[in-house]
Amino acid sequence: MRSELYIDGKWVSPVKGGTFDIINPATEEVIHKAAAAGADDVDLAVKAARRAFDTDGWPKLPGRERARYLRAIANGIRARQEEIVRLEVIDNGKPLPEADWDVTDAAGCFDFYADLAEQLDNNPEEPITLADARFTSKAVKEPIGVAGAIIPWNYPLLMAAWKVAPALAAGCTVVLKPAELTSLTALELAAVADEAKLPAGVLNIVTGAGSVAGQAIIDHKGVDKLAFTGSGPVGSKIMAAAARDIKRVSLELGGKSPFVVFDDADIEKAVEWIMFGIFWNQGQVCSATSRVLVQERIYDNLMARLVEETKKITIGNGLDDGVLLGPLVSKRQYEQVLAAIEAARAAGATVAYGGQRPEGFEKGYYLQPTILTDVPLESDAWREEIFGPVVCVRPFSTEEEAIELANDSRYGLAAAVMSQDDVRAERVAAAFRAGIVWINCSQPTFTEAPWGGYKESGIGRELGRWGLENYLETKQITKYVSEDPWGWYIKSTEK
Ligand code: NAD
Repeated sequence: MRSELYIDGKWVSPVKGGTFDIINPATEEVIHKAAAAGADDVDLAVKAARRAFDTDGWPKLPGRERARYLRAIANGIRARQEEIVRLEVIDNGKPLPEADWDVTDAAGCFDFYADLAEQLDNNPEEPITLADARFTSKAVKEPIGVAGAIIPWNYPLLMAAWKVAPALAAGCTVVLKPAELTSLTALELAAVADEAKLPAGVLNIVTGAGSVAGQAIIDHKGVDKLAFTGSGPVGSKIMAAAARDIKRVSLELGGKSPFVVFDDADIEKAVEWIMFGIFWNQGQVCSATSRVLVQERIYDNLMARLVEETKKITIGNGLDDGVLLGPLVSKRQYEQVLAAIEAARAAGATVAYGGQRPEGFEKGYYLQPTILTDVPLESDAWREEIFGPVVCVRPFSTEEEAIELANDSRYGLAAAVMSQDDVRAERVAAAFRAGIVWINCSQPTFTEAPWGGYKESGIGRELGRWGLENYLETKQITKYVSEDPWGWYIKSTEK
């Protein structure tokens, strides 16, 4: 475990010193002290990133050479996968197989953007046909500059990969700040990049508080682009900071995503996907399908099976075999989720299962997987993100009603529909006001496909070729090719 910042290709202590505790949510023990970056350290990191971009030539490298570094990072992650997975579990709390999946995906993300970096070489300019034959024109893509990336704690290494890989592929340089709750694997990424001999300043990683290090990144005049995943209120601050300096900005915020299950769906499959949609990663997933709408005819049978299967989920320390639900990430998160369940109860909801600390756990931020019914439509439990293993289930009668309920939210990150009638499923998918729609499943996420939200769930798209666009500017180059003088101020008769 590392205790320094990674700035300009070197491991350094914060200018003013200072550390913060890293706590294992399964044991509540302090397992490490990480370096707390201040504004001075962020300034050094941004200056290094600026130099790497402006003078050292990172954006001028052919894409295939940047791709070599990205592939070396992917291989470096895989080479120490076991160690990184373990760090992710003790830092975040998630079950080990989930952490293993995330780390595999993170390495795959670097490989994917290596391919796209190469493609930038093959297709560097797009000719534009103009109506005026005296000119030719073309559009070229260029990297935006220095990217400030601020990420959350729910997928620590994977969120770093989603931002760092496309940014480096595009030719940007990066200052990355992981969430203060989960800093360990971002520092491993720095170590991997260092071993891959990534040029100094191209990737800088500063650990520290959002209100200090994060704020210093978003306020820094040397940063051209802000890329953020996290809560709506912080997203709003980031957009305001971006607005002040006209920085480019992409935001991936929260959601309260619906899952509509029609009565022709296979109940067993529906139960499994509902569980995957809300209990995976302890429900700490921005796209979690936390509002489940079930068509009346199968509601009672489905609920009975859902409760039965939910009871069987093995809760425990993510390092232990067979565990499918670990602790929540922090004491604060645990208390907030418990408070949200209490508020739901007070508003009239029924706790069909869970809602409490599981028996036999003295330490750790453990919470039973929780199923709420009779949740009033105007209550916070139905409308606001809980960000824990808490699902609200509600019956509906018609397709129109389901669509209306599904879309009645200020969020629009994801939505899911389950039906054996493909025409209906496609029709409902088209009607959802959400950036990510799953048919007959919930949550599978692919590096190749665009990721991002409608409405208050964010701005811009990550992943796929859209993720690369996030870090590119478009430049037009227009040439006057006519032999004739322009003839506006200087008329040909004046010659
Ligand atoms: P947060 O938005 O407070 O933190 C996310 C990141 O932003 C962290 O790296 C944090 O240090 C940084 N940050 C905080 N204040 C900042 C500031 N003023 N300037 C710049 N950076 C700043 O999220 P959180 O406290 O970790 O979680 C709170 C809630 O956010 C959760 O309960 C959940 O609802 C939501 N959340 C959403 C996602 C998602 O994927 N969309 C992920 C995590 C949390």
